[in-house]
Amino acid sequence: MEDINEYIPECWYNMQADLPDYKCQFINPFTMKEAGKNDLKMIFPEPLIEQEISKERFIKIPSEVLDLYRMWRPTPLNRADRLEKTLGTPAKIFYKYEGTSPAGSHKLNTAIPQAYFNKISGINTLSTETGAGQWGSALAFACKSLNMQCKVFMVKISFNQKPYRRIFIKLFDGTVISSPSMETEAGREILKNYPDSNGSLGIAISEAVEVAAKDKNINYSLGSVLNHVLLHQTVIGLEAKRQLAELDVYPDEVFACCGGGSNFGGIAFPFIADKLKGQELRAIAVEPAACPTLTKGVYTYDYGDVAKLTPIMKMYTLGHNFIPPAIHAGGLRYHGVSPLLSYLYSQGLMEATSVHQSEVYKAGKLFAETEGIIPAPESAHAIAAVINEAIRCREEKDPKNILFCLSGHGYFDMAFYDNEINGGLKDFEYPEELIKKSLNDLPKV
Ligand SMILES: *Cc1c(COP(=O)(O)O)cnc(C)c1O
Repeated sequence: MEDINEYIPECWYNMQADLPDYKCQFINPFTMKEAGKNDLKMIFPEPLIEQEISKERFIKIPSEVLDLYRMWRPTPLNRADRLEKTLGTPAKIFYKYEGTSPAGSHKLNTAIPQAYFNKISGINTLSTETGAGQWGSALAFACKSLNMQCKVFMVKISFNQKPYRRIFIKLFDGTVISSPSMETEAGREILKNYPDSNGSLGIAISEAVEVAAKDKNINYSLGSVLNHVLLHQTVIGLEAKRQLAELDVYPDEVFACCGGGSNFGGIAFPFIADKLKGQELRAIAVEPAACPTLTKGVYTYDYGDVAKLTPIMKMYTLGHNFIPPAIHAGGLRYHGVSPLLSYLYSQGLMEATSVHQSEVYKAGKLFAETEGIIPAPESAHAIAAVINEAIRCREEKDPKNILFCLSGHGYFDMAFYDNEINGGLKDFEYPEELIKKSLNDLPKV
């Protein structure tokens, strides 16, 4: 008999196949005309461009990638029974734990195939940005596993506040550069105008894209947002579905935190596929109140970065110039979100909610106490929303099956859990004025 603990899907699930009205579209930021494959070839390898626009339902995972996945996949599906008891809820809470990966988060699910498809396309170096450091860590590890080089532009505030992530990247022979840097035109331009800039993901993306566009041996790699990234992450949901089926459970509700949308898409897409066929299901993305892209943004065309170098995409956005308040969940501080998620949200096929930093802290602490895993501050956003829902289930005697993605562990993010900091942990109000101002700069498409 097949052992469920050995099951890894052979294919990724492509959500686009089941959304005939969704149009994958990029606009060239220089010509303002629709970008074709050739525009993307400057920074991405052909197999990933094909995946980005593919309408095929299942895309085979290469055996080399499966071999590397086996280092930590399948990841455990746990029941949070001690959390349930503590909350006194009739809901059953299951979580898929992605923190067991060598980089400590779900991001390695896409870092490995991205490095692989670049390598077989003749590329030897990948450049990227990292906010909190998780994506940089994952890509550095993936590049090392495939004998490639990795160059990481790390948002300056994290570079200074998160030495262990920096060391992690260096341990796997990645190069780490504090962004904004003097190495790129984009970085120099920011430093000229804002010498004390703490950096942002949007700025770091500009630097990483510039480096890739200028050197034919270097490609750019993005850790979220794009269709091929969410495609790779569907291993999470596909595994979870099999593991739950083994227990005769189908979730009523699926939760995940949402920055660019990759762990949400990863766990939710295989279930949303069923929803499209009539299955009852709620899929809920959880974002920070300080960076409320889905809940307060607008669905329109925008750049992916500050320097306006990336293709323009239609997505929910707070404006590419929006620099969110310095909350601890660095991985959720992005002005935009996946175009595919944006489409699903606009169609009412998924929901979104936002939570404040102080309730995220309390949720992370309670989860650590009951389940014995210290969650990443990003993942603790999902937990906060799940706890609210479990309490509702208690009050309304509603025994729902809840599944959420525990996207990573928080052992490199202990500052978030520092009592002294959190004694005075600030909740940032919804930054209405900042967002209004930033939305004035949207491109005219
Ligand atoms: C990067 C990251 C996120 C946010 O990114 P998504 O693309 O929205 O998943 C969430 N959790 C962890 C642990 C991360 O590293």
